[in-house]
Amino acid sequence: MDDGSTVLQDANIKFIVYTSANIEKIPYLAYHLSPSQLLETKAIATVLPFRVNTYVLDHLIDWDNVPNDPVYQIVFPQPGMLTEEDTNKIKNAIILDPSNKEKIKLLANEIRNKLNPHPSDQMQLNIPDVGNDGYKGIQHKYKETALFFPAQGQTCHTYCAFCFRWAQFTDNKNLRFSDPNRDILHQYLLDNKSVSNLILTGGDPMVMKSSHFEYYLDALSQSKYNHLQTIRIGTKSLTYWPYRFTHDSDADNLLRLFEKLISSGKHITIMAHYNHVNELQTDVALLAIKRLQNTGVIIRSQGPILNHVNNSSDIWLDLWNKQERLGIIPYYMFVERQTGSYRYYEVPLQKAYEVYRNALCQTSGLVRTVRGPSMSTTNGKVEIQGITQIQNKKVFVLRYIQARNPEWVQRPFFAHFNDKATWFDQLKPFYPEDAFFFK
Ligand SMILES: *Cc1c(COP(=O)(O)O)cnc(C)c1O
Ligand code: SF4
Repeated sequence: MDDGSTVLQDANIKFIVYTSANIEKIPYLAYHLSPSQLLETKAIATVLPFRVNTYVLDHLIDWDNVPNDPVYQIVFPQPGMLTEEDTNKIKNAIILDPSNKEKIKLLANEIRNKLNPHPSDQMQLNIPDVGNDGYKGIQHKYKETALFFPAQGQTCHTYCAFCFRWAQFTDNKNLRFSDPNRDILHQYLLDNKSVSNLILTGGDPMVMKSSHFEYYLDALSQSKYNHLQTIRIGTKSLTYWPYRFTHDSDADNLLRLFEKLISSGKHITIMAHYNHVNELQTDVALLAIKRLQNTGVIIRSQGPILNHVNNSSDIWLDLWNKQERLGIIPYYMFVERQTGSYRYYEVPLQKAYEVYRNALCQTSGLVRTVRGPSMSTTNGKVEIQGITQIQNKKVFVLRYIQARNPEWVQRPFFAHFNDKATWFDQLKPFYPEDAFFFK
């Protein structure tokens, strides 16, 4: 077994990236889509951000199963993501004059603005001066946990077509910080001793070079940062570019940094974003997991429930069982936010809850650490705990898993059952005195 002590070499690894600008050049598409499907795909990709690399194309998508293949559904624009009217407008502009980039761009922006680019507190979250006092790249919502957006980690290897951060990947420059923001991070941690957990997020921080990780994190092994217990890194790289941990020339530097931080007393946990067991099948994905775990890192998993991708108990059961086998701890099942292409992927809350429950009741207790379905709202994370009856009326049982106001955490409250609701703001309090939970 490879022990992570040397960078692996493989001359066959190709790294080619395709984006909205050249999506039609992806060799597979000409074989598997008709010319009109290809035009539609191109048209939608002009509005919604698109990016894919050769690893995803060659190893994760089963092209004989396109368009139903789950990873294809995650990554590629799909008919139905925009209204027919908007799709036609953009298609016609491309047919009429593909070289008129200005016109196409204007039209794309117009359509984007109709897609709720900044759901709930996203605007605040997306602005570099997040947080209270102009701390660039820090968001501190829950007392013990601060989020940090490292300047160099605000993009991803491949984009998920459902991503609630999609607006940041179009031509919104808000999150492209010009300066690295290390000093702010370090000062913030020294000034806020209640922060025991630091979450690095993006984009995907794992697009950063290992030297950037060293730049931000190395100092945190010093004793003056002892109050910081845990460093979490949110990433989809174990799916989209596992070579980050195996074959990239600086892979081992990253692993050595994790070892150093762990031996200084920190807990390092990778919050790995997974949507489907197909992301956990390739040799390199499994090797990447092993190498990370060999450093003492714990991998936890989280991801949204999505129509067309994983809207069934069997899929979650396979995913979670595979994770248990690999020593990955299931942490959150999310509900997708109401932005961008969400109508294509949205699942009614009652269905999401049934999928969650039906999968969990077939697992061992080790998988039941996973919480959800969970909605990230302005006030906190709201979990659907169950569906029951009060006074002969059907209700959702809810709780805040995490809240701005710690008093709210873990207290059950109720909403009228609604079989169509797909988000918290469509629910009505059952008891009038619970109304403040819904504000
Ligand atoms: C989810 C989340 C966290 C982490 O909360 P935990 O309950 O510790 O997992 C921190 N900050 C924000 C803004 C979040 O959405
Ligand atoms: S990897 Fe995460 S941040 Fe990047 S596109 Fe996917 S969901 Fe969005």
